[in-house]
Amino acid sequence: MVGAPGGKARGTGAAGKAAPAGASLPAAANNSRLTVLSGPSGVGKSTVVAELRRRSPEIWISVSVTTRSPRPGEVNGREYYFVTREEFDRMVAAEELLEWAEFAGNKYGTPAAPVRDRLERGLPTLLEIDLAGARQVRETMKDDALLVFLKPPSWAELVRRLTGRGTEPPEVVERRLAVAKEELAAAGEFDVTLVNTSVDEVCRQMVTLIVSLVNRSKSVRKATRGSNPGRSRHHQPADRRAP
Ligand code: 5GP
Repeated sequence: MVGAPGGKARGTGAAGKAAPAGASLPAAANNSRLTVLSGPSGVGKSTVVAELRRRSPEIWISVSVTTRSPRPGEVNGREYYFVTREEFDRMVAAEELLEWAEFAGNKYGTPAAPVRDRLERGLPTLLEIDLAGARQVRETMKDDALLVFLKPPSWAELVRRLTGRGTEPPEVVERRLAVAKEELAAAGEFDVTLVNTSVDEVCRQMVTLIVSLVNRSKSVRKATRGSNPGRSRHHQPADRRAP
């Protein structure tokens, strides 16, 4: 692996639909500052993350490890830690990853230690991961994480973005589109759905969500003096129209 995963921020930004500024936060994540951003490949998660990193450096963004090769412009330790399959497998065996998944032929995972460290220090923390990873976080963190799903304005737009990127060979694009179909069908599992019509708008909505989370976390902690309050989940209705 090139460089140890340690805790450099990967920025985020998003735009969407179901969480207008000032909207009350879904009842998930009562006592946590962990937000997970997921959504199909090509929807614009990494653009949103990069913009969030620029605008809101107070939000710590986890840097994943991956076995995929760097794309032009990607920097080891910023977008990802680029590792060999052997190193990735070693990290899995050593239980160093909070979650991990295989995606379109490559492996991706979240180094656990830096995330735990940020959460223990009460810092707003963001993961940008795929559906399988988001499901694992839901499983391990239960309602102590807010799951945000980013969807494209339309299926045609997602195809355009994925094919237009020009960074992957056609067979990889095909695989990513097939996975995207499955991922879009899972939007209802998330607490909030945002539609990426504008990076600026998604970023604003993400910041609003994350700030609400931090504020509520503070007031819940104060009110309960550290006890774990009862949580009632409320799923904001996700837009289930065919993309
Ligand atoms: P890409 O190769 O386009 O950068 O990422 C492919 C997919 O892997 C995206 O959906 C991205 O969100 C996801 N991904 C990135 N890092 C992680 C991670 O640490 N864990 C999981 N489960 N998925 C990740």
